[in-house]
Amino acid sequence: MTALIEASDLVRIYQIRRGLFGRPHPVRAVDEISLAVNPGETLGIVGESGSGKSTLGRMLLGIDTAQGGEVRFEGKPMPPLRTPEWRALRAKMQLIYQDPLAALDRRLTIAAQVGEPLEIHKIIPKQHQAARVAELMAAVGLRPDQAEHYPHELSGGQRQRAVIARALAARPKLLVCDEPVSALDVSIQAQVVNMLRDLQAENGIAMVFISHDLKVVRNIADRVAVMYLGRIVEEASSDVIFQSPQHPYTKALVSSVPVPGKRLEGRVILQGEPPNPASRPPGCAFHPRCPLARDICRALVPELRQIGDGRTAACHVVTGETAAIAA
Ligand code: SF4
Repeated sequence: MTALIEASDLVRIYQIRRGLFGRPHPVRAVDEISLAVNPGETLGIVGESGSGKSTLGRMLLGIDTAQGGEVRFEGKPMPPLRTPEWRALRAKMQLIYQDPLAALDRRLTIAAQVGEPLEIHKIIPKQHQAARVAELMAAVGLRPDQAEHYPHELSGGQRQRAVIARALAARPKLLVCDEPVSALDVSIQAQVVNMLRDLQAENGIAMVFISHDLKVVRNIADRVAVMYLGRIVEEASSDVIFQSPQHPYTKALVSSVPVPGKRLEGRVILQGEPPNPASRPPGCAFHPRCPLARDICRALVPELRQIGDGRTAACHVVTGETAAIAA
């Protein structure tokens, strides 16, 4: 199958100053990442804050420019930012943010905002737009009377539904969802995730679902990529990742996910400080917190390689043989 979107060796470096008069210091927010998402598939991207997952999401859409590597959509390279070709392509790739209030215009009604893409991208004739807006609002579970409401008159969950309806109006092939439910109440999170999953299946949309919450990712992703300080450290199908994580960092993350009806046992508590992108440790960036670290880990960056089960992992200790024994 041809991938809908493919990234190869993506690099993004920010120049960060330490203190007001400090010299700029390069921080590799995304460090040689390659991935592919097939049509209709959901790729979950997980990792702690500072792992580079949001930067990666913006790079896939071309909003954040890659300083190395390439993104291809439907086999073609991404056009330069803000060109007419890029704008046309952006209709096919929509972004859903964490904060729906920031994503919506407080001065416009919900109907006006859901209808915006129909008008901008001339998707359907003007006389059919109102009916399509009503259809989109119904699809995300908003009531007809909420069409004339303003964003501040809706709850957080309803606002996120409105953002999703607006994204769907453009008939996208790809949704990049960056922490789409983390600002919502837990009871509403499940409703929005289920709705996204249903809409995705109905419309055959591919999705990149970025989250620090593995419970949510487990519910929605077909495949999962685990990021640590700008790099993917393990990638596999969702079942393989959650049933037999192999990379020590993935093991720690997965061990903290509660399974309904089971006591949380064998939880791995990570030692040391959370990652700081501005001071990346040499060798394997995870080595200061890794229970399996040895000399080679402090000296050499591990390559991401196939270790069986359709899984890739970047670790000097976890290899194809160790993964097979663990399975
Ligand atoms: Fe741990 Fe070494 Fe593997 Fe890094 S390479 S995850 S430090 S065992």
